[in-house]
Amino acid sequence: MIKKIGILTSGGDAPGMNAAIRAIVRTAINSGIQVLGIRDGYLGLHQERIFELKRDDVADILNRAGTILGTARFPAFKDEAVRKDAMSILRKHEIDGLVVIGGEGSYKGAKLLSFEGFPCVCIPGTIDNDIPGTDYSIGFSTALRNVIDDVDKLRDTASSHKRISLVETMGRNCGDLALYASVACGAEYVIVPERQFSLDELYKNIDDGLKQGKRHAIVLICENVLDIKELAADLETHTGLEIRTTILGHVQRGGSPTAFDRIVASQMGSYAVDLIKRGVGGVCIGIQDNHIVHHEIAESLCQMQHKFDVNLYNLSNLLI
Ligand code: ADP
Repeated sequence: MIKKIGILTSGGDAPGMNAAIRAIVRTAINSGIQVLGIRDGYLGLHQERIFELKRDDVADILNRAGTILGTARFPAFKDEAVRKDAMSILRKHEIDGLVVIGGEGSYKGAKLLSFEGFPCVCIPGTIDNDIPGTDYSIGFSTALRNVIDDVDKLRDTASSHKRISLVETMGRNCGDLALYASVACGAEYVIVPERQFSLDELYKNIDDGLKQGKRHAIVLICENVLDIKELAADLETHTGLEIRTTILGHVQRGGSPTAFDRIVASQMGSYAVDLIKRGVGGVCIGIQDNHIVHHEIAESLCQMQHKFDVNLYNLSNLLI
């Protein structure tokens, strides 16, 4: 019989994490289960910063980005002795199962804790959308909305001045934010880590656009693929036009979560409690083909890959 569950958020924050926390707390309390919040991810767990979360503690958070629990990077969690301490703290507080909301790094910590004897359930929370075993991670939809809002604004000014706008999105090693935004914003070119980048092809797209009378070109670039300043210098020499570079950075993570992020986070949070009640651990939750699903964390991390949407990439190139 499950009496107590713990929640922590770990790694990069993502809009919608709060919606998941709220859903976990309220689903659990409705089933007579007590919920303990753990501050600042695995770091706070190791430091035993644990407190009870009641129904009202999660009021008015559904519409706020970030995480009320706080998050942190804690590389020491890779150390087995540190995890052993963490496990005794979880046991001391009589926690029966732990929900970890975070990205791939957080999943690795939860996978090890589960292997070592403490059942964890992971919820994908990252704007990068790079987690295997799910089509979407919590936060991606809101970050995409943020990128679109900013690129639309940049297009207005680029068009007035006949400039080329190079915009770098987040994504770590996943091109989804840049790719989805390229279709939504009608970008002239998108550069993602999943596809080889060709400078000649980029020149051609921009030249063709200018010949057709376009007054701007928007190029979306996923971070970590290339140096945006070097690309700007190359393009300036080639086209003779003014180039502006924008690195969107952390504004992508803020703002009120979209309906999609709030709803999926609520579904996943509630599902996580159901799994723990059924005695299921060592798993991660996803949304695939519009269904909430779960997989073994180990299987997800080792045997699955987050799918790159080739059709969307082709569409992005077709519609310029
Ligand atoms: P994200 O969860 O967003 O991918 P990180 O990669 O920074 O972010 O991971 C978050 C935290 O998860 C780390 O600070 C660390 O505490 C824990 N973690 C990451 N990798 C491992 C690992 N290999 N083993 C155990 N814990 C890990």
